[in-house]
Amino acid sequence: MSLDRKKSNELFQEAKEVIPGGVNSPVRAFSSVGAEPLFIEEAEGSKMYDADGNEYIDYVGSWGPMIVGHSHPKVTEAIQGAVAKGSSFGTPTTLETEMAKLVVEAVPSIEKVRMVNSGTEATMSALRLARGYTGKDKIIKLTGCYHGHGDSLLINAGSGVTTLGIPGSPGVPEKIAKETIAAPYNDLDAVKDIFDKYGDDIAAIILEPVTGNMGVIRPKKGYLEGLRKVTNEYESLLIFDEVMTGFRVAYGGVQEKYGVTPDLTCLGKIIGGGLPVGAYGGKEEIMNHIAPDGPVYQAGTLSGNPLAMTAGIETLKLLGEPGVYEQLEEKSAKLNEGIKDNLEKLGLNCYQSREGAMFSLFFNENPVVDYATAQECDTDSFAIYFRKMLEQGIYLGCSQFEAAFMSLAHTDKDIQKTIEANYNALKAVKE
Ligand code: PLP
Repeated sequence: MSLDRKKSNELFQEAKEVIPGGVNSPVRAFSSVGAEPLFIEEAEGSKMYDADGNEYIDYVGSWGPMIVGHSHPKVTEAIQGAVAKGSSFGTPTTLETEMAKLVVEAVPSIEKVRMVNSGTEATMSALRLARGYTGKDKIIKLTGCYHGHGDSLLINAGSGVTTLGIPGSPGVPEKIAKETIAAPYNDLDAVKDIFDKYGDDIAAIILEPVTGNMGVIRPKKGYLEGLRKVTNEYESLLIFDEVMTGFRVAYGGVQEKYGVTPDLTCLGKIIGGGLPVGAYGGKEEIMNHIAPDGPVYQAGTLSGNPLAMTAGIETLKLLGEPGVYEQLEEKSAKLNEGIKDNLEKLGLNCYQSREGAMFSLFFNENPVVDYATAQECDTDSFAIYFRKMLEQGIYLGCSQFEAAFMSLAHTDKDIQKTIEANYNALKAVKE
């Protein structure tokens, strides 16, 4: 079976004439899997429909936000109600306070929170605050963690125990990159070594506490605790980037699940319910350094936008209902068990990794614990797998290094269909 994607392909050609690469975010181009992107016209629940009328079971969920499913009636109705009252005022609204209260109640580290418009803005602003608060300039980031495209964080650190950052993109000045020191994920000694050497100059360490951007990798036992301890010792800040994991792996994110509380937390994706959003928050004493209370400047014309707040509030309310995370866990476990059975039946050895409702199937026989081991995956096999899944109406992230996301809208039937498709796709990889 091969789906007809003629119209999507034509639309992509048209887009390429006026948009760089035909996409407004590079991850949307299917270049690494040797295919062309789909043009989606509408989505409902767990399904998306492309311009050719094909139906897909969606495990991308707009790269994470759509955890209650697409076009959830309550979210849609709330947005419609809000837009009828006006789409932006540039003044405070009670929606912003309501959203802030929900976040403060949910996320252990957050006593005060500032809304922004994207995850990138959240991490950029958190870093500025960390630098302004500590009076130090250097930051540690972990290789393979993605924190958006801010200059300080777009660092391609290369391999090795620790490397001084080199720019990951033309346009990032070397002077800025030099202030970022990279260390491998899950290697506490590497971070301690950096602190030994540069401790007095390090404003913060930022990480995805469970990674999603080199595939799903969980922290080794004691790793997050170790980072907490060493940052305390050197009076540096610990920043958890929970843009992806916040309200996904648990209502209160990784920090609730693992019981390690950072100084600052970055959020995005789910808290906007599908509208553009980001947020950063933390201890009141630190957050009070932000303008207008303090000297660290950060602002935004559309920050706390009423439509985004409304979609986010409605989504968080749905996620706050009893049993929701148990449901997500059950669905995710069921799918991953099915994949495990398929691998066994076919005699294939791939590494599966899952944290709650986000998971990866690595084409690697060995455990994937950091960027180096992630890089050992067989991306050619992944490309075959991806295309075969797509042909069967299963929409996955178009890279081995993207996490898959479960939503509340995925049904037993969806999961069963996905397991069957997975068998066929793995068989194609084997052949
Ligand atoms: N941080 C993490 C962990 C992310 O996964 C992402 C995006 O995927 C970002 C930050 C950047 O967020 P945005 O794309 O909204 O700028």
